[in-house]
Amino acid sequence: MEKFVAVERAREIMLGEVHRLPAEKVAITDALGRVVMEDVLVDRDIPPLDNSAMDGYGIKALDSIAATVEQPLKLKVVATIPAGRHFAGEIRSGEAVRIMTGAPIPAGVDAVVKRELVEEHEDHVFLSGPVAAGNDIRYAGEDVRAGEKVIAAGQVITPAMVGMMASVGYPFVAVVQRPRIAVITTGDEIVDFHERPGTGKIRNSNSFSLAALVRHSGGIPLVFSTVRDDPSLLKRVVEEAAATADLVLTTGGVSMGDYDFVKNVLNDVAGGILFWKVKMKPGRPLVFGTVNGVPLVGLPGNPVSVMISFEQFVRPMVKKMSGYPAAGWLLPRLRAVAGEDLPGAGRRRHFLRGILRRETVDGDYEVFMTGPQGSGILRSMVLGNCLIVLAEQTEVVKKGEPVDVELLDYDLAAAFYLGTGVD
Ligand code: AMP
Ligand code: MG
Repeated sequence: MEKFVAVERAREIMLGEVHRLPAEKVAITDALGRVVMEDVLVDRDIPPLDNSAMDGYGIKALDSIAATVEQPLKLKVVATIPAGRHFAGEIRSGEAVRIMTGAPIPAGVDAVVKRELVEEHEDHVFLSGPVAAGNDIRYAGEDVRAGEKVIAAGQVITPAMVGMMASVGYPFVAVVQRPRIAVITTGDEIVDFHERPGTGKIRNSNSFSLAALVRHSGGIPLVFSTVRDDPSLLKRVVEEAAATADLVLTTGGVSMGDYDFVKNVLNDVAGGILFWKVKMKPGRPLVFGTVNGVPLVGLPGNPVSVMISFEQFVRPMVKKMSGYPAAGWLLPRLRAVAGEDLPGAGRRRHFLRGILRRETVDGDYEVFMTGPQGSGILRSMVLGNCLIVLAEQTEVVKKGEPVDVELLDYDLAAAFYLGTGVD
């Protein structure tokens, strides 16, 4: 068992214990944010036919060469073509068709002039200037061509890709399964939110923040009821969880206390502890091991620590299991300017909750602490939109100096995940 390991080492050990899950077919409406496991090929040209880009008139461009405001070109309107209808006739010189956006271009027409640019009088139309051949025509196959690959296996599905799959006739698509993540809360002092907390009791918040984090990272939370600080009971629940989940999370019971039993349980099962304690603040007390081949992350109990440890370690595991490219495992980072003095945490990496903002469009990103930074102050996570990351051995980062931040804005973070290729 390794002890008091660096953040990168902890992550390396944990990522070594998880693998991409198998694929499943889902409706494309359920595919958003998932990793596609097949190439998506185009079944037919899109658009299928040359068609009008505007509501207007289809003409022969050559007819319009000499048209001016003083001497407008007069054309006879011989048909009206709505979208979805095909006009079988052919247009001759001196004629026009009234055509709607998306309607197929009939034979003889080589340009469309939009309605706003012409005068209409009964069954005639008047043009006051020349129109170039090809004007406002969308050509067959200009979006995508039959047989072309539009989405490659390994890509993360975006809203545009969902639309594209519908466009090319894919109602279902193979994506990587969502990992099933067990969430087990421990502690004699924990009560459910529908109970009135007695003396010395607190409501369970970790199960809820963890379940939400699991969902945010693309997993399916399996939330177990709270387990009392009783090693044999805890062992039973952990083994039950390991039998159904791809990954087991516990919270609490991993410190030095007399009632911290998660380590004992790991020591007691097939697999055991791989490391205990990480050089970070908050989140030092974390234990990692396997239970009958299923990885178990013993997360700290403090409401802030549990969330930060999730972001640093569990999120990458969930992403890896979900098939994300390695570039999408970690929270995206950017460099900001410290808006105030930021204290280091000695030998440990310090994750402060920060508020990142940009006063002007061309200005720098500035970052401030959310206020008190205790590991029990959940409000700091509510207020923060980023983690400020101070390297080990940093004494202080002075106001005005550069500092790294990790973004907690989940939609923004998703924009960084659009990698290709399966890791
Ligand atoms: P422990 O590591 O079990 O001693 O827990 C550390 C701190 O986190 C204690 O103050 C616990 O009361 C608190 N804590 C543990 N589990 C939860 C939970 N599910 N919800 C809120 N606070 C918790
Ligand atoms: Mg406890």
